[in-house]
Amino acid sequence: MQAENSSTGRGEPPSGNSMQALKKFTSAGRGYWHDVSEKDWNDWRWQLKHRITTVEQLQKFLPTLTPEELAGAKLANTKLALAITPYFFNLIDPADEHCPIRQQVIPRIEESHTAPWEMSDPVGEDSHSPVPGLVHRYPDRVLFLVTDRCAAYCRYCTRSRLVSNATGYDFHPEFDKQIAYIAAHPEIRDVLLSGGDPLLLSDDKLENLLSRLRAIPHVEFLRIGSRIPTFLPQRITPELCAMLKKFHPLFMSIHSNHPRELTTEVRDAMGRLADAGIPLGNQSVLLKHVNDDTDVMKAHVQKLLMCRVKPYYIYQCDLISGSAHLRVSVRKGLEIMEKLRGHTTGYAVPQYVIDAPGGGGKVPINPEYVLSHNADRVVIRNFEGKIFEYPEAADGTPLSKPPRNIEEPELV
Ligand code: SF4
Repeated sequence: MQAENSSTGRGEPPSGNSMQALKKFTSAGRGYWHDVSEKDWNDWRWQLKHRITTVEQLQKFLPTLTPEELAGAKLANTKLALAITPYFFNLIDPADEHCPIRQQVIPRIEESHTAPWEMSDPVGEDSHSPVPGLVHRYPDRVLFLVTDRCAAYCRYCTRSRLVSNATGYDFHPEFDKQIAYIAAHPEIRDVLLSGGDPLLLSDDKLENLLSRLRAIPHVEFLRIGSRIPTFLPQRITPELCAMLKKFHPLFMSIHSNHPRELTTEVRDAMGRLADAGIPLGNQSVLLKHVNDDTDVMKAHVQKLLMCRVKPYYIYQCDLISGSAHLRVSVRKGLEIMEKLRGHTTGYAVPQYVIDAPGGGGKVPINPEYVLSHNADRVVIRNFEGKIFEYPEAADGTPLSKPPRNIEEPELV
């Protein structure tokens, strides 16, 4: 049970930044919705219907709204819509202006400031779309944008041009053309359903879509990218999981940025998906005041494993218009990666990437572990900074001298 906050009358969100506090699983609680029946609260459609979508609701539920947030909220529906599920809203700490949950979903006036290098389509998806809503950037796979709606809206969304002012279509209007394109291209062996959020489709519609894709012989592998498990874990019903397991191999990439998002509700939802045989990966975006901290990121990746989710990617925040206030330096990202690799379980270490501006695709960004490399040897350092030499013998040529331990790298 959460404690009541006497000043707001709502339940307290989980708080604290010690590693122990960050890794603790707690429920999001009921907060303002303590009178709602258990049945309604756990009904994903009830959650969607009762989302916070207006300035007035925001002022009522979050009396500590700052002037920057209020101004941002007033502009939100002209740019990227405001919507937050009651469940996710309960994770916000009203006393903390920099609350990591708050930063992700409460609009700010800074969103209206566009830096010269920012874009509405920062990773060039539109220029790689042979059919509207289908992105064919890589040789053997496509990104299938099946809907333009989300359960809640992330303030740094790369696809805000698509999900802003969503028309609320269930399937993309070009749905038949999208399926026809995939069917006509035998090189496509992997289809990633995204959007918007594919899990907003009803079970029947999603089943219809997955059946159409599975009927295409060259489609080997299906993936769903979804933020629903963290915005709306109530959507991960046993019925949904039973339906999804008919379409294996089917993987799911969830989206979570901070350990506080990993509640008991999310852990249980992930358990249902994992029990249905769905391999789970997580994608995070590196964000200021959210996860630009080594301890926070380490707690997050370790907690993901406890939810049976493999940390998959950390994205450098795309150059989306109005996102400068959330962006963190690549230097900081590398520093975090340096403190993860070797310092925690290998399975917990995601790949840090920059989605190259303009459509270059994902580029892995790693701290430097290879210090020098020539025909005879490679000089490497480990996570503790110790330096080692490994004999290079890829072509089978004997080494002219045996490898030795060295103190300092020799430049070649
Ligand atoms: S859930 Fe995904 S598509 Fe929707 S707003 Fe967030 S990042 Fe964008």
